[in-house]
Amino acid sequence: MPLDGSPGGEEPRGPWCASCKAPITKGQRRVRVQFDNDPHGFRGLTGEYHEACSKPFASMARAINLMSFRRF
Ligand SMILES: [Zn+2]
Repeated sequence: MPLDGSPGGEEPRGPWCASCKAPITKGQRRVRVQFDNDPHGFRGLTGEYHEACSKPFASMARAINLMSFRRF
């Protein structure tokens, strides 16, 4: 399957992977990763990821969310 096989004119839309900055197409699995220190995604952390791209970020988010949970 070609990665850039769409014939001209069609702009990529929809969610963009917050890790690799490529659009997440319909056929790809996507995962939303929520960072407690970036609730609105302004830092480019919280957002949609390709399933494969999300893995390191998901574990990072878990660690960060755990820290903010323990914070007073
Ligand atoms: Zn990606």
